[in-house]
Amino acid sequence: MKNQVAIITIGNEILDGIILDTNTKWMIERLKPLGLIVKVVLVVRDDVPEIARAINRAIEDGCSLIITSGGLGPTHDDMTLKGVAEAFHLPLEVNAEGLAIVTRQYKGLHDSGRIESAEITEARKKMAIFPSGSRPLDNRVGGAPGVLISHSGAEIVSLPGVPHELMWIFDNQLIPHISEHIEGFYYEEVLSLPLRDESTLAPLIDEAMRRVPEVWIKSLVKPYGERGIRFWISARGDDKAELEAKVKEATRILVGLAEKRLPTS
Ligand code: ATP
Ligand code: MG
Repeated sequence: MKNQVAIITIGNEILDGIILDTNTKWMIERLKPLGLIVKVVLVVRDDVPEIARAINRAIEDGCSLIITSGGLGPTHDDMTLKGVAEAFHLPLEVNAEGLAIVTRQYKGLHDSGRIESAEITEARKKMAIFPSGSRPLDNRVGGAPGVLISHSGAEIVSLPGVPHELMWIFDNQLIPHISEHIEGFYYEEVLSLPLRDESTLAPLIDEAMRRVPEVWIKSLVKPYGERGIRFWISARGDDKAELEAKVKEATRILVGLAEKRLPTS
């Protein structure tokens, strides 16, 4: 698998400012240490052509992993899988394995007294209607399975928007699946220095990056009221030990240069 990822967040509630998209930040933090690079994040409304367009844009961008979040539930505004089907001109059909997961989940919820009936209504069955050629990703903490399809040189993974469901499927189903295919590594160190002015740091960062060219340094001022500047020093590549050594070398150089600027009081 090439290492470029697209995340497509789906939901009017996000673009209407009702819900903050925390799923994306959470997924990026998980993808980064695996050596995967999030190339683009797109946020679209609950609208089939918009979802299809976002998927095609991610394919055109060369992303080999496309993760969608939201819109897998039973209601009329959950239309992610229709968007995936439209993007690739695929028919939608009941997926037997997916239906078995939905059935098991609602039976469990009913057995534990949390819902009135375990009946597979049309609304529940909808969660097992996938684009042809897809397979389900098990969901043991909610009703809607995740959905995986390989198409146009990419793997498209659709996850529910409810954060604990998305997290469960991501960690238990998606990570084991993608870990097999990933090439390359990522290594990062985070450093905090009691410096005041980010602008005086620019030449120091430039020098450290010049001396260890494969390393990327990002600085961020701490939130207002806290003194100091944080640095993310990172590198990507094929040799894990080499990456670690380079990041440590750049960190040592940066600390050495910064020490000369530390406030004396
Ligand atoms: P389900 O299958 O459980 O119905 P779903 O796939 O239909 O989930 P949505 O209906 O899109 O998901 O969202 C359900 C809820 O999950 C939202 O009301 C919101 O609270 C939360 N949610 C959705 N998307 C996000 C997001 N990107 N970040 C954080 N929370 C989100
Ligand atoms: Mg929903």
